[in-house]
Parts: sequence; C-alpha cells; structure tokens
Amino acid sequence: MKKVAIYPGSFDPITNGHMSLIRRGLQIFDELIVAVAFNPNKKTLFTVEERVEMIREILKDTENVRVDHFEGLTVNYAKTQGSNVILRGLRATSDFEFEFQLALMNRRLARDIQSLFLMTDSKWFYLSSTIVKEAASFGGDIKGLVPHTVCERMKEKFKGRFTNNK
Ligand code: ADP
Repeated sequence: MKKVAIYPGSFDPITNGHMSLIRRGLQIFDELIVAVAFNPNKKTLFTVEERVEMIREILKDTENVRVDHFEGLTVNYAKTQGSNVILRGLRATSDFEFEFQLALMNRRLARDIQSLFLMTDSKWFYLSSTIVKEAASFGGDIKGLVPHTVCERMKEKFKGRFTNNK
C-alpha cells in the first residue's frame, strides 16, 4: 500500500527550511501532501490561494508531491486523504514545547494517526517564515533563504513600502 504523509503548516511563505523537509520526507514516503492550513484566526501575509499557487509553482517538477489546502483539524484532513502520518519539522528548542503539545493533542483526537518529526538541517536552524517576512518588509535581501518565486512575490508585496526596497 502507498505510504502517504501530510505535511501541514501555514507556509506564509514557504522557505528553504520547509523545502528541505519536503525533500527529506519524500525519501521516506511514497507521496507527500503539502497541506496549507487556512486558519481564520491567524493573520497571514499571503492568502491561502496565493500560498498554494506559489508552492505548486515551486514544486511543479517534483514527483510524488501534492499541494492542497484545508480548514479545521489536521487529523480530520489526514483521514480524508487516507493518510495516518503527520510530518513536522523541528528547529531550535523553542519549537519543541509547542510541537509536543500539538502532537499530544492530535494523538488524543486520533490515536491511529502518528506525528513524525524530522530535525531541520543545520543550515535552516534559525530560519522561519516570520523572520523572512520581517527582513523583506524592511527591504532586506532574502535570497538564498526562500525559493526564487517567493523572493519575487515578496518584492511585489512590499513594493513601494520603503525607499530602499528594490
Ligand atoms: P505552523 O504555523 O503550522 O507552525 P509553519 O509554516 O511555520 O506552520 O511550519 C510548518 C512546519 O514546518 C512546522 O512543523 C515547522 O516546525 C516546520 N518548519 C518551519 N521552518 C522550518 C525550518 N527552517 N526547518 C525545518 N522545519 C521547519
């Protein structure tokens, strides 16, 4: 049977840290579903449609990956996709407590679904969507931290906001 994992997240926007996790996840699973979470309580820079579109563009030549979006509980979404694995990444220790809490709650909600964690690559240890947005919003160069498409879309988003934002 095909082993399918869900990789859920906000991906606002997708970074090279996320990309590394996707590539490594694909070495373990037959198929990976990058699932962009729509959370009406969370303010995002990109709409869910924009986030999905960007990731699809970036992964268009990658096999065995599907990009989707969902609303509500991740475990429920996983079930609709016939998957019993939720893939998550771990960076600095600060991720640990939140991820532990989330994994325990998901386990309580659905005991047949497993959360699986991959340590980030040392290169992406301190990389987050939040820090990328912060830097880009002040005209900082984010090349090398996010895929090219994201770089371009961020430039567009922040165009004209600051005089040094080229
Ligand atoms: P969420 O809002 O659900 O935390 P994110 O888009 O921030 O969504 O992250 C999705 C997943 O990717 C999380 O498990 C997060 O820990 C992981 N992740 C984020 N940045 C990195 C990175 N630099 N390296 C490895 N994993 C990461």
